[in-house]
Amino acid sequence: MKKQIPVRQRPRQILLVVSLLLFPVTMNYLSPYVVIDGAIQGILAASPIVFGIQFLSALVLGRAYCGWVCPAGKLQDLCVDFNNQPVNGRKIDWVKWAIWAPWLGTILFFLVKAGTSLRVNPLHLTETGVSVDSPLKFVNFYAVALIFLLIAGLAGRRAACHSICWMAPFMILGKKLGDALRIPRLRLRAEEEKCTNCMTCTNHCPMSLPVNEMVKVSDMENTECILCGNCVDGCTKKAIQYRFGQAK
Ligand code: SF4
Ligand code: SF4
Repeated sequence: MKKQIPVRQRPRQILLVVSLLLFPVTMNYLSPYVVIDGAIQGILAASPIVFGIQFLSALVLGRAYCGWVCPAGKLQDLCVDFNNQPVNGRKIDWVKWAIWAPWLGTILFFLVKAGTSLRVNPLHLTETGVSVDSPLKFVNFYAVALIFLLIAGLAGRRAACHSICWMAPFMILGKKLGDALRIPRLRLRAEEEKCTNCMTCTNHCPMSLPVNEMVKVSDMENTECILCGNCVDGCTKKAIQYRFGQAK
């Protein structure tokens, strides 16, 4: 029998599919390579500007970008039919920070070195505005797609989000700063008394979070939550809801 998609999950899935179809256009604007190449030449490319927007968006939307818009996230979701194993987040989550810190340090070094000669060029390496505008660039595109597919296919649900994503740390830090400044943002709330511990939420969380345990202690804050709403829409007891507000 065909699985019914909850009403709220339909626009999310449409957004993700559109984003994935546009990935050949947008790839460079999200690229960890273009930013480095630009910084070495004293150029601020589009991708660091996008990372800054992601950081600011996380102040009020947390990691909703990852759950609702990210093309690489949708690519990994396609692997669930082959490998739906949960990922052991506590270990793998640190890998992305170990990659991200020296990567960001290198970028900042070259941007500071450029000093006043720094130029802004959002079309750096993307002169036509389209990231994949020649047959040769399809090789890069397929290589990037293959990396995400392989990691999720081999290691489990959205494993690349946990392990190699260079954008996630910007949003995690944005969330933390927003909470420190008491800025209201989109979050989850749980009513633990409604929970029957059926585990549906945990079994369907794309980020492999122990959602039922989070509900039990009424603490839905987790740096890896991408606010996809699978748990909200999947819980027949309505024990989890979205809320917009400050940290407790
Ligand atoms: S799906 Fe709902 S009832 Fe089931 S464990 Fe999760 S919160 Fe509890
Ligand atoms: S806890 Fe819920 S909203 Fe967060 S990633 Fe898991 S299923 Fe999505």
